[in-house]
Amino acid sequence: MHLPGTISDGVIVKAGNLGIRKFDLIGELKKYFSNPIYIRNDAKCAAMAEKIYGAMRDYSDGVFLTLGTGIGGAVIMDGKLLEPKRYSGFEFGHMTINKGGRLCSCGKRGCFETYASIKALKIKITETLNIDCDISGQYLREVILKREVFEEKNEKVIKELDLFLDYLSVGICNLIDIFEPEIIVLGGSFAYYKGNPIFDMLLKKVYKPKATFNEGNPPKIVTAKFANDAGIIGATLINDLNRLYN
Ligand SMILES: [Zn+2]
Repeated sequence: MHLPGTISDGVIVKAGNLGIRKFDLIGELKKYFSNPIYIRNDAKCAAMAEKIYGAMRDYSDGVFLTLGTGIGGAVIMDGKLLEPKRYSGFEFGHMTINKGGRLCSCGKRGCFETYASIKALKIKITETLNIDCDISGQYLREVILKREVFEEKNEKVIKELDLFLDYLSVGICNLIDIFEPEIIVLGGSFAYYKGNPIFDMLLKKVYKPKATFNEGNPPKIVTAKFANDAGIIGATLINDLNRLYN
């Protein structure tokens, strides 16, 4: 089973987007099911799926970002998933990129995911167009952005999209400078942007001069091979991983 948030020994320590803190999910599920139950952070599951079968298969050093309601992350170094001993770690969505900025579900201000998650983009675009924000990430791409950005050229929408990509690129460049990955894989709803000009707009920002410390050998940046299903595919690999919870 894969879940967003911080998971430790089968307990959801904190899942800001779900409004959950310290919940023994496995303990609850064991009241109803007798078979072994394993849970892991969703971004770590997705990263393992992409490492074993997907976009990171031929790379030893990679960063995985899942962009959806929030932003999750995982790092593969020397072919192995990096894991801290205490919690899930690599909560990239909660690194501060704007001190004193927007309030995040975690309680901090200015977190990366409050500016660069698909949820953040959806809020800004639907506010700008004055439409219902209860739309899927796929719909956001297929209808709103395509129509408003590339056909009708709505300047207000283009401005919000550009700002979103600015923040996303700043976060990605920070991760490049910290981990020096060979590849960065973008999953979650952002995987729907594969082959879309919006993805090229992001690459231009990340690859522009002086965006990162070491400019000479930038990482490859791609969308997840398994798109929004990488997490669930990775969850099937939990039994193959080192740390099991039951
Ligand atoms: Zn946060």
